[in-house]
Amino acid sequence: MIGKKIVIASTNTGKIKEFKEMFEPHGYQVLSLKDLPEEIDIDENGTTFAENAVIKAQSVTDRFGMEALADDSGLEIDAFGGEPGVHSARWLGHDTPYTYKNQVILERMEGEQNRGCRYVCAIAWTKPDCPPVVIEDTVECTIAYRPAGTNGFGYDPIVYYPPYGKTMAEMDPEEKHLISHRGKAVRRLEKLFDEKDC
Ligand code: IMP
Repeated sequence: MIGKKIVIASTNTGKIKEFKEMFEPHGYQVLSLKDLPEEIDIDENGTTFAENAVIKAQSVTDRFGMEALADDSGLEIDAFGGEPGVHSARWLGHDTPYTYKNQVILERMEGEQNRGCRYVCAIAWTKPDCPPVVIEDTVECTIAYRPAGTNGFGYDPIVYYPPYGKTMAEMDPEEKHLISHRGKAVRRLEKLFDEKDC
């Protein structure tokens, strides 16, 4: 059975795989930007995670008249006034290795007592002739004193989750998914699929 189509406004294969697992059981055929008839250039110029997620999903819905889904996420560090925040992917350069970015954070945090930080994830779901639905969730953490762990990606080796007593990179994927910003947002969105018409 081929159900309704939904476009994941991303080319990130990891994200697309996760969203496929989530949407296919609800009867959706899941597509990515690569499956669209034309290339679409999306300018992520919002100032919040929610704005960026809506910009990405709404651009696809407006241009192709299809349902779309996009997420935008990042790390907010309290001692840096919330940076890198929406700039997380491009902070210190898009292609700069995270081993370097994480080292810079640890150096700038030396002697800092306020080590609070959080991951934030906003997911936008857009349909033609409907207002966008946006869900945002977070996970409260602290910046570790040194990197630890090899799982996960990005800032995970220096993001410490106090209730588990380890960094995000020391968790296995299921463990991280249970408490993560993205895991929590995805589970809330799943509940809406079968309930919301518009
Ligand atoms: P996006 O793909 O534009 O939403 O960028 C998200 C960026 O935020 C990633 O490239 C990472 O730098 C950071 N980030 C978001 N979620 C996580 C996570 O779960 N672990 C590590 N880094 C993350």
